[in-house]
Amino acid sequence: MDKISYQRLLESKPIEEITYQNLLFTTEWERTRKRIIERDGKRCRKCNYSATGSYAHFDKEKNLYSYLTDDGTEEKQSILDNNGFVIDVEIPRLVVTYKPYHLQVHHKYYIFNKLPWEYKDDALITLCNWCHSELHIESNIEIFDNESFANSQILIPCGRCNGTGWFEQYNHIQGGVCFKCLGKRFTTPLISF
Ligand SMILES: [Zn+2]
Ligand SMILES: [Zn+2]
Ligand SMILES: [Zn+2]
Repeated sequence: MDKISYQRLLESKPIEEITYQNLLFTTEWERTRKRIIERDGKRCRKCNYSATGSYAHFDKEKNLYSYLTDDGTEEKQSILDNNGFVIDVEIPRLVVTYKPYHLQVHHKYYIFNKLPWEYKDDALITLCNWCHSELHIESNIEIFDNESFANSQILIPCGRCNGTGWFEQYNHIQGGVCFKCLGKRFTTPLISF
């Protein structure tokens, strides 16, 4: 799925049909997301996990690990010695893991009707999918009426994705949208056009 600009999105369908998830598939959010992940050293700020992208899959015939990086490109790399032992992983950012990891950018708070990329950088933080999910279970995310933080309201997260909008089992960047809330994340809309 190719990212489109917000302008293109607005032209593509009636405004009331635009979902929060659509907003996250814009080039505007993609730029912000990349900038924040870059700023945070391509690591989860909570557990320091550096798996940018996903888990590695080992191809026995080719002795190659293949993995998806966070920008969606596939890379292959041999990391075994002649005896089949894993040698020092020289692949930048790759961590071989049994559970899928990828990096997400979390909003520490929301302001009603603000577009996802309109927040100050310090309102955003890089987390892996697991820490992101945990954080949403452990803490309440607030939404404010406006920039001066008026009328705080606690958001009630979707029971399936815990407010992350994503589903751990599907780690591919473009997939994995929570099918219960369809990426809305919370019972209260973050944006209402
Ligand atoms: Zn983490
Ligand atoms: Zn979040
Ligand atoms: Zn959900």
